Amino acid sequence: MASLNTTFINEDKINDLISKKNTQNEVNEILDKSLKAQGLTLEETAVLLNVEDDETLEKIFKAAKIIKEKIYGKRIVLFAPLYAANVCTNNCVYCAFRRDNKNIERRVLTPQEVVEEAKAIMRMGHKRIVLLTGEDYKDTGLDYLQEIMERIYKTKELNGEIRRININIAPLSVEDFKRLNTFGIGTYQLFQETYHQETYKTVHPAGKKANYEWRLNAMDRAIEAGLDDLGIGPLFGLADYKFETLATLMHAEHMEKACGVGPHTISVPRIEPAEGVAFSQNPPAQMTDKEFKKLVAVIRLAVPYTGLILSTRETPQMRREIIELGISQISAASETNPGGYAVHKEATKQFTSGDTRSLEDMIVELCEHGFLPSFCTSCYRLGRTGKNFMEYAKPGLIHKYCQPNAIATFKEYIEDYGTEKVKEIGEKVIQQHFNEIEDPKMKEVAKRQLEEIEKGKRDLHV
Ligand code: SAM
Ligand code: SF4
Repeated sequence: MASLNTTFINEDKINDLISKKNTQNEVNEILDKSLKAQGLTLEETAVLLNVEDDETLEKIFKAAKIIKEKIYGKRIVLFAPLYAANVCTNNCVYCAFRRDNKNIERRVLTPQEVVEEAKAIMRMGHKRIVLLTGEDYKDTGLDYLQEIMERIYKTKELNGEIRRININIAPLSVEDFKRLNTFGIGTYQLFQETYHQETYKTVHPAGKKANYEWRLNAMDRAIEAGLDDLGIGPLFGLADYKFETLATLMHAEHMEKACGVGPHTISVPRIEPAEGVAFSQNPPAQMTDKEFKKLVAVIRLAVPYTGLILSTRETPQMRREIIELGISQISAASETNPGGYAVHKEATKQFTSGDTRSLEDMIVELCEHGFLPSFCTSCYRLGRTGKNFMEYAKPGLIHKYCQPNAIATFKEYIEDYGTEKVKEIGEKVIQQHFNEIEDPKMKEVAKRQLEEIEKGKRDLHV
């Protein structure tokens, strides 16, 4: 078993950093450095997190937008969650699936029901999902996951298919992670919820999740087992947002230093109201929307090459404001209940979505704001993950592949699912981004892919 190691979350150091008063000169120097896209130290990150005045905040937002565009261009990757079950042996005080919540009908979708859900997601045009369950080893163990993943990957619905299944399930042992790694997963995602040990204890009163170290060391175990595409994040609202942001980055630093694989993504979920769970209506450490924008922008500057994920927990207005600050992936048209897309639409949701718009509406909005919606799943299918991914990403090479892939997958979406409205605006967006490809070889690739997709070919990627 991997050794227990919580020392990399140094609470005293974090508390010290967030209580410092910094000069405007320090802030300006760090902002200048951030524009080099080489990332920031924890100390520098804390200085930016401590900024309160609107004028300097605007500067941080501006810098974050520049870095986002430099590294990710205007691409936004889309995905949807698929909840397979809501049975859970834990009692997390913020979650509707907690074992003491008696207001909820418990359900484990049958493999056929999972397929029906996946088909409903495919009919919207999604190509990438994140698969979720509660923590329950009896009904939703690895045999179950293996079976449903195999069936999802095999399923086709017209031109639709799921090409990448990310997974967000409870932490496993090294042995079980090894087995999970043979199922063809994309990113293994796990939120620490809170890095603050005292708070962690009070909000996770029972079940296996009560063990802080077991969860904190999950990524070390996953890496030991050979996984190299990993996603982390806190659940904002439990402890101070500056603390959680710095601790998340400390975790990222630890993964990189100790294991050689930093996180591929960081998620920034905030607690949303959950049915039958009073705690979720009024979490103890809520932040303002302005603070939320600040922390997203600061993470973007601190770890420029780590993808940032924003879910439908946030409202459309908030998503509009946050996406441009550094988000690279968003969920859209999400249901957070097992069966929510097709087979049990009435089932209790894990939490309420702030953004209930359809995928089509989301896509139109992205296009209207100059973004390029992407359904690309190429990197992980071609082995560009972990260190290998960073070797492409850091010298800016990833951009070279992402742009034609984003264009091709969006073109597929337009051909197969596009309404008149989507076609009209989408073709313009494709043309504009095609024109911006500088590398003549890649431009040729993109041109050929667009022609082939029009003739009916699918799943073209480089
Ligand atoms: N049950 C596993 C676990 O806890 O790791 C798998 C993930 S759970 C289905 C997905 C995530 O939902 C949790 O990690 C938590 O961060 C988030 N979540 C739970 N309740 C929430 C709420 N009320 N609002 C927003 N996010 C919530
Ligand atoms: Fe169970 Fe996960 Fe919800 Fe906790 S967050 S109650 S572990 S489903």
